[in-house]
Amino acid sequence: MLTREDGESVRLRSVGLGGGSDQLSLIEVEPSPGRRRRTKYVHVHTPEELAAFERSKAISAQIRGDGLSEDEKWCPGGCGKLIRRERRSCGRRWCDAVRPSWAASFRSVIHAALDAYCELYGSEAKVLQGVLTCTAEPWWWDKSKCTHPPDVPCSGPLGCRVLDSVAEEQRRLWSARRHETLNAARTAAIRQLRREGWTEEKMPSLLLWVLEDQSRGVPHLHFVLGHTTALEKAFARTFFRELKSAAYAHGLGHTSTYEKAVLEQGKYEARRLRNYVSKLASYLSKSDSAAAFLFRHSGERVFYVAPWLSAVSGVTMTIARLSRRVWAARKGLIEMPKMTAEQEALVALLLDPVVCAPNAP
Ligand SMILES: [Zn+2]
Ligand SMILES: [Zn+2]
Repeated sequence: MLTREDGESVRLRSVGLGGGSDQLSLIEVEPSPGRRRRTKYVHVHTPEELAAFERSKAISAQIRGDGLSEDEKWCPGGCGKLIRRERRSCGRRWCDAVRPSWAASFRSVIHAALDAYCELYGSEAKVLQGVLTCTAEPWWWDKSKCTHPPDVPCSGPLGCRVLDSVAEEQRRLWSARRHETLNAARTAAIRQLRREGWTEEKMPSLLLWVLEDQSRGVPHLHFVLGHTTALEKAFARTFFRELKSAAYAHGLGHTSTYEKAVLEQGKYEARRLRNYVSKLASYLSKSDSAAAFLFRHSGERVFYVAPWLSAVSGVTMTIARLSRRVWAARKGLIEMPKMTAEQEALVALLLDPVVCAPNAP
């Protein structure tokens, strides 16, 4: 069971499995095989068995639909949420019934944004990638979970985890800190560019960012900046520098440097970033730990695409979802979803092959 901040208790079906302690053993092992005793065996249920029994009762009640009114049903994701009969799922992105399609939309939106950026500049398009992390304190580590020799210092890559209480606190503060840090860095960078004589009315911004949890258990984000035009290059250089002090001022930790980002540029060329996003999306749709990740970050932004870039690409989460449903409706699998004329045009752009006029002789 997990308890959310609003006090509502929910069970993550796929996450709760394999926890070790709630695993039932198939064969009871006789503790002392030596002397045979003739006392009659009376089985006393352990708390684990009683809990498992309660769970079975709850599940069978769900399947039988006990106590449901006519227009209600259980979410097919097994998340334990009652929904209206005409709805297909509870709509919560961490739920098994929602996550795969949510991740598919996420992938379409980010891919379309990267493609749209590339199409603006053709083969010239270049992007930089950077990270923004939480800070680190020596006392944060949960030594009981360490698996390395005691003389080795703790680190995330070694498999060390921070204390649950620390992770919770960092997650609670994350959204506001991230928002303020990125804003402060951009504002300072723009001010600097103005001092250097750049007069452009529209200044660059982050193209997109994606939130992930580090293996040590606290959030961090990967951001992507355009690095194609002279203005974008000047902005990126200043933004990276300002980000360092903004992160420090707002209680966040490590940020990558401009120099390192440029060195890695070959690796993060926009078209190659697509691979990273695809991998992330398939992780988000399938993995149990991804369900836990999305659950931990319920109600928070886990990715961002610059509004101007979304407008250029035409693909938002809504459009991506509608496209999948229109595709299924055309195959006769579901009913055609309701759309505005504008949405219909965007969906048609995504689904229908571009009809080329025949070449002139
Ligand atoms: Zn659900
Ligand atoms: Zn350690």
